[in-house]
Amino acid sequence: MRQYLDVKARYPDAIVFFRLGDFYEMFYEDAVYVSRALNLTLTTRDKGKEKEDAVPMCGVPYHAVRGYLNKLTELGHRIALCEQLEDPKVARGIVRRDVVRVVTPGVVLDEESLDPRAPSYVAAVAGDRRQGYGLAFLDVTTGHFRATEASTPEALLDELARAEPRELVLARRDRAGDPARDLSRMPADDEGLAAQIRRAYPRLVQTPVAEDSAFDPGELLAQALGAAFDAAELRARAPMAVAAAGRVLRYARATQPGAALPLGQLEVYRRADYLVIDEQARSHLELTESLLERRRTGTLLEVIDETRSAMGGRLLRRWLLFPLVDVARIRRRQDAVERLVNAHAARDSARQQLGDVADLERLVARAQLGVASPRDLVALGRSLARLPALAAALRAASAGEIGSVAPSEAAGAGGTGDSAGAAAGAAVSGVDLGDLGGDLAGELAERLVQTLRADAPAVTREGGFISPGVSAELDELNTIASGGRDTLGVIEARERERTGVGSLKVKYNSVFGYYIEITRAQLAHAQLPAEYQRKQTVANGERFVTPELAEYEAKILSADERRVALELEIFEGLRREVAAQSARLLDLAGRVAAADVLAGLAEVAHRSGYCRPVVDESGVIELADGRHPVVERLAAAGGFVPNDVRLDGDSEQMLIVTGPNMAGKSTLIRQVAQCVVLAQMGSFVPARRARIGVCDRVFTRVGAGDNLARGETTFLVEMRETAHILRYATPRSLVILDEIGRGTSTYDGVSIAWAVAEHLHDRVRAKTLFATHYHELCALADLHPRVRNVSVAAREWKGDIVFLRKLSPGGASRSFGIEVAKLAGLPPAVVERARTILKTLESDAAGQRGAVPRPAAPAATEMPQLGLFAGGGTAPIVTGVAPEVELGRSGPATDPAAAEVVAALRAIDPDELSPRAAWDLLTGLIKKLTPTPKD
Ligand code: ADP
Repeated sequence: MRQYLDVKARYPDAIVFFRLGDFYEMFYEDAVYVSRALNLTLTTRDKGKEKEDAVPMCGVPYHAVRGYLNKLTELGHRIALCEQLEDPKVARGIVRRDVVRVVTPGVVLDEESLDPRAPSYVAAVAGDRRQGYGLAFLDVTTGHFRATEASTPEALLDELARAEPRELVLARRDRAGDPARDLSRMPADDEGLAAQIRRAYPRLVQTPVAEDSAFDPGELLAQALGAAFDAAELRARAPMAVAAAGRVLRYARATQPGAALPLGQLEVYRRADYLVIDEQARSHLELTESLLERRRTGTLLEVIDETRSAMGGRLLRRWLLFPLVDVARIRRRQDAVERLVNAHAARDSARQQLGDVADLERLVARAQLGVASPRDLVALGRSLARLPALAAALRAASAGEIGSVAPSEAAGAGGTGDSAGAAAGAAVSGVDLGDLGGDLAGELAERLVQTLRADAPAVTREGGFISPGVSAELDELNTIASGGRDTLGVIEARERERTGVGSLKVKYNSVFGYYIEITRAQLAHAQLPAEYQRKQTVANGERFVTPELAEYEAKILSADERRVALELEIFEGLRREVAAQSARLLDLAGRVAAADVLAGLAEVAHRSGYCRPVVDESGVIELADGRHPVVERLAAAGGFVPNDVRLDGDSEQMLIVTGPNMAGKSTLIRQVAQCVVLAQMGSFVPARRARIGVCDRVFTRVGAGDNLARGETTFLVEMRETAHILRYATPRSLVILDEIGRGTSTYDGVSIAWAVAEHLHDRVRAKTLFATHYHELCALADLHPRVRNVSVAAREWKGDIVFLRKLSPGGASRSFGIEVAKLAGLPPAVVERARTILKTLESDAAGQRGAVPRPAAPAATEMPQLGLFAGGGTAPIVTGVAPEVELGRSGPATDPAAAEVVAALRAIDPDELSPRAAWDLLTGLIKKLTPTPKD
């Protein structure tokens, strides 16, 4: 028990799994808690003792430990695995035990509980409101290590969200006696921050750690990362990032007392190095997770993921969440994708090789951490052996073929000479497998493949993973073991002769080893030699042992034991060899992953008809026949209607997109944002031709996606998100607004939407796509130079609505709400009643125009009077200004033409009109309202 208490004292914040034989045992409060949490039987250690002194205890079998670990980490706990460090059979006194590994929510090595296509980050924050914040992420399963800084808590939360860590380490003010498990009551160094993070991401496990003042993060990093790491420079440039990186490294190291962590170079990035995609945009654009079901299905990631390896899948996800802003870097990726698009055969061959490459990153990391199994190393060897062929395919793609292929339509048509970039650069950029592919990988692959048997098991317990010919001693031991078996055959034959029992058999069981079995029927005639010692009587015979058999058994067993030990020794040597090369291998793995991503993007572009966008600093966003990558995939073949969109800072800064519900407004504005993300990550985009002026941020305020988890009303969330956009957007940003203002009363809603649009137009000057069913907003275009109206057309036909999905200039004038309701299956009686009410409301509104409360307009002269219900059903769809505005301004009483029109409108029964008749009628009405020049 003293040994246990020592261990527990060193790991007070963890649950200690204490190995005793075939079980992991827990004691004291750990046992009480875990037995309750995992539904285990709670016993006591010394059953005889009085109740009060008895030590509570519970245990789990060692071979089933994985499931228990998973459950506990899911609950947010850390588990220290305390193993037996020597064989209890040979140990004198108490068996040596120590913690070999701490499993935490963010530091999980068990492949089966890891998502192969997502990172497994443990993160740390440092700093406070005054100094700014640092944030660092470390993936112990791949060695991937990054850090950044954020000046505000909001920025910090955004960065946290897009890295998607599984666990967050923060400092705790030392307060002795805190119950380790009660995380919610742990004070952090910035109490407000911890609470804020908890509110924003309730699922993220927070682990407060005690901070000691002597700890120097820069020094730790320098020592861990070696010569390439310039601690002083970095500390001057990004002190908070260094603090966070040091904190996370220290934490992760402590979880692996027995091994050095696999570590790639620390990448310290600035937020401005990447297109900023905050939490709202990430979820609204459904980049990696669908909005409603929070799944991968239906996301942009799913649609563009044609990678063949798990590490390619992870890298693609990173590229998607961190698109670039540097035009040169983006073009380099595009060049590589373009080459691979054009080089069909090379692409196919590269992807075929990649399909046979296992997760190099995680395999190398496992080798480094000393947990790789023989099977893992076989997979590593086989994968490395693929690399020369992969490198050859990539070379083929980057050489030769490009000259014969015309520059892509996009590059040519955009007229910026971007195609010149395609010819530059030697290899498929950034993925030159270089000498690593040649010597290191080749040598190591050969060693692994030669040393290990192809059918090596995942466990080392019974050996059987080292090939013959690797070690003379091992081969000899193997001969003894199998030779022993031959000898047994000889013994069997001899004993049959000697005893005259033809059916005598030499058998083996684990209770008394080798024995001779003679059936009951034969026993009577048998001449049993004196040394036969009766051991057991079974239903149809007797079992005997002999000294000779016992001797053989000992020999075989000891040969077997030595064989397993020797195999293990050779294997561990091999694993150390891999570990020693881990930095170079991880680097190589990163390049293979990049090749996979580029080839995958090329495959998507080829299959789905994407084009290479011209990426530049023009500030223009232009999509000719742009499509929504996800909706297009779900639509029937050819069923998706492409649309042209253009935005720029000078004349078309803001598009007000109107149209009935379900017309396709959201789809349109989201597809623009998704294309920007795709273009800036280096991908081709779903369009016939595209030009993307690099954006610094994408903002979205989409739908009424309530944030109930945060316990606030929809409207409040909506306004907070809108405020966030107004505050942080710049002229280089793209803003997507969908139906803002909907969460409140109509008048409030229109007024807010109006004011927000104006602010974005006049002050922020961000490129904005504003989808709304408030057609009143169309009037903005008359008052502001850089606002354009567009609408997604729909036509009414016999009381039903036909969606055309086609964007046309001008605002829509009505919402078709009732038709959509009908489409959705509202009972006919209700639909009819709604029509009647609408008519009454419309005529009331027309009658008392002056009395209709108006949105709080900035100034009466700036904003036309808005008749919310004016106009009714049949105004023309394609006009610059919504006609109801005109109607409203003049009023039926004063303008005879208008009065006539209103009367004509009243007389219409829309259900009776064909589209053609409606069109004729409309043209007639418009004519009435347009003053004809007098001749
Ligand atoms: P809105 O925002 O106008 O209410 P949505 O953008 O949600 O409409 O579109 C409604 C549905 O119409 C989408 O689910 C999609 O299936 C379909 N859709 C939208 N745009 C297109 C298009 N361009 N081509 C084909 N179908 C489309």
